[in-house]
Parts: sequence; C-alpha cells; structure tokens
Amino acid sequence: MSPFDKLQVRGQRVLLRLDLNTPLNKRKVADATRIEAALPTISSLRERGAKVVICSHLGRPKGQTVPALSLEPVAAWLAENLDTEVVFAHETVGEDVENLSKDLQAGGILMVENLRFNKGEKSRDPEFAKLLARLGDVYVNDAFGVLHREHASVVGVGQHMQDKALGPLIQREINALDRLVKGAVKPFVGILGGAKVSDKIGVMEALMERCDAVLIGGAMAYTFLLAQGKATGKSLVEPDRIRLAQRLLNDAEKRGIKVLLPVDHIAVGPDQTTATVVEDLGTEFVGYDIGPKTANTYAEIISRANSIFWNGPMGMFEKEDYAGGTKAVAEALAASRAYSVVGGGDSAAAIHQMGLGDSVSHISTGGGAALQYMEGNGLPGLQALKAKGNQ
Ligand code: ADP
Ligand code: MG
Repeated sequence: MSPFDKLQVRGQRVLLRLDLNTPLNKRKVADATRIEAALPTISSLRERGAKVVICSHLGRPKGQTVPALSLEPVAAWLAENLDTEVVFAHETVGEDVENLSKDLQAGGILMVENLRFNKGEKSRDPEFAKLLARLGDVYVNDAFGVLHREHASVVGVGQHMQDKALGPLIQREINALDRLVKGAVKPFVGILGGAKVSDKIGVMEALMERCDAVLIGGAMAYTFLLAQGKATGKSLVEPDRIRLAQRLLNDAEKRGIKVLLPVDHIAVGPDQTTATVVEDLGTEFVGYDIGPKTANTYAEIISRANSIFWNGPMGMFEKEDYAGGTKAVAEALAASRAYSVVGGGDSAAAIHQMGLGDSVSHISTGGGAALQYMEGNGLPGLQALKAKGNQ
C-alpha cells in the first residue's frame, strides 16, 4: 500500500495540489489531458469519504489577478464531467475560502482560485503557505510538473501539516523515471534535441553519466557541430556555448561514450524557399531538421537499445517539411522493445501528434521536473515530503 492509500481521509479536508495548467479557449477548457490525468486521484479521495480542496496554478499571471487565467472554467469542466457540484472559491486563501472548505460534505469538492494570483506562491512566502495549510487537514501533492519549483504550495505548505503524501500520478512518474535513473538495462541510449544547448546542459551531463550513446539533433546540434569545427551555415547556434559543447564532447570521448551528431540536414539555402538534403551547410544553409542518413543511423542505434530516454525534437517538427527526423526517431522508438521514456513538452507533443503515444513505455507530463529528476539531484517537492519520513 502506498502512503497515499494509507492516508486516513474519511471526513477530513484534503488539500490536493494538482497540475491543472490547462490551455483555455474563450474561458473554456481547450485540452483536458491534465484534468483527466488527475481524475483517479480525485475519485479515490472522494470514494474514501474525503472533502477535497483542489489548488493549482494556471499560466503565468505573475502574482496578479488575471481574469483570463481563472481556474473557474476548470472547475466547470470537473463539475460537468464528474456530474457533481464543484464549489469554486474566487480567492485562493482567506477566511471565506476556509469556511467554504469547512462547509464541504464527505466526497464534496472545492476548487480555489489560481495559486499564482498570489505573489506568495512563487516567492514561497511562509505566511501564504500557512494560509494554504488552513484549507486542509491532510495534504496531498500530485502535481508532478511543479516538483522542481520551490513554491509555497509545493515545498511550503507541507511544513504546516502533519498528514501528507505524494499522490499516485507523481508516484507513477517517479517509478517510471527511476527505472532509468537507478540502473537502466544497457545499452542505454539518450536522445537529445530541441532548441538550445543552454536549456539542456544538466540533462546532457546526466545522460553522459548513464548512457552508452547519446544521439543529438535539433537546433542544439549546430552548436556541437561548430565546436567540432564543422560548417553550420546560418543555422541557429549559441556562440557563447561553443566552449561548453567542446568540453562536453571531450568528456564523452574520455569516458568512451559515443556522442553522435548529424551528418546530413534538411536545410534551406539563401536563394531557395524549399528544403533540400545537404551534408555540408557551408556558409549559407539553414538547417531545420536532421537528414535521412542521420535519421537512419539514429534509428538503427535505437533499435539495438534496451533503455531509451528522449528529450527534444530532432528538428522544427511543427512544420511538416521539418518533421521527418523527429518522426523517424519516434517510429524507431515505437518499434523498439526497449524501456522508453519521453520527457519534455514539445517532445511529448510530437510523439502524440504522430499517433505513437501508446507505443512508448512512459511519457512524462512534466518537462522541467522530469529533466531535473534525470539529473539525479532529486526534486525540492519530493524532498519536502520525504523530510518528515512520509516516503
Ligand atoms: P522540449 O519541450 O521537448 O524539451 P525544446 O523546447 O527544447 O523541447 O525544443 C523544441 C523546439 O525546438 C521546437 O519548437 C522546435 O521547433 C525547435 N527546433 C528544433 N530543431 C530546430 C532547428 N533546427 N531550428 C530551429 N528550431 C528548432
Ligand atoms: Mg519546449
């Protein structure tokens, strides 16, 4: 039995931190993936007779009340889909909200307004954390996507509450990532892409410690190619990261880890509007995707892996012309029998867009949190709950 299952919640108010950061359109939920993912947690608590007080953030209101980022549409979605009343509090904390929480019946639901309407959420204001803690007798954190944030609702509120646990969604994410962090079956292949080297230094270093091979694509590949003295034309590069890229490549070589870089590209020349395959980007070509030769090599290495971690698309996959490399990698991943985890917002979107979401072992819902956990340094939100011996 997990600590979440063991919690005594009957008749208790459970303050439930969720990640309901959901895209809205005209004050309606436009994509319910994150709310749907949280439904089993909510249902479990209700069935066990808890009074469920839900809090979440939505968007980046920067400590201000931004009506377009109200959680009210999310509460309405929940009410409709659970076919039950969901009380919505137009404030996040305070006496009125506290009274609403106390008025709940067993199985009842209260959703409070966007945590980030309050400056104290991001600044981890102890007063705000205390006010939040007054909304529940028990605290459950099931918001994986924010575990790397030292916010009041993530690391502060638990200090004021005796009974607390991680929720099942977080447990699932951690179990999935632990299979790679704590002793992946070799060969372990890391696939790294996306826009910037600077975003991915930590995870690159982590993968280099654990993987047998790291395959690099996306715009970040050009900074690495430049570090090797290769021509990158007018592709996106980070000149201030060339030395770092050099260091990472040297480290890998010393440790005998294979780091593969693209040998061909889908690129656009100065006088062209259409994309062509080139091996040499010269001075003028802009690379937008890995080329077919690279994609084949990467697919072959993936097919021989027993463990795979993938973060970052291989090209500007949002455009059909430049989606080929990402698609090839996604298909190789789907076809392989390896234990495979995809982390990162755009990478997850790409694999879903290609209809291959069911063919990988695990797709993480939290980009930043998953990457930080892969780095092996734990997560503040986990430590906050572990500290008191709660798991
Ligand atoms: P994730 O969200 O999976 O961590 P990132 O946010 O790091 O991934 O990177 C995704 C972005 O990188 C996408 O918007 C994609 O268009 C962009 N990208 C990838 N390759 C290139 C490229 N060659 N040129 C420009 N942008 C690229
Ligand atoms: Mg992204």
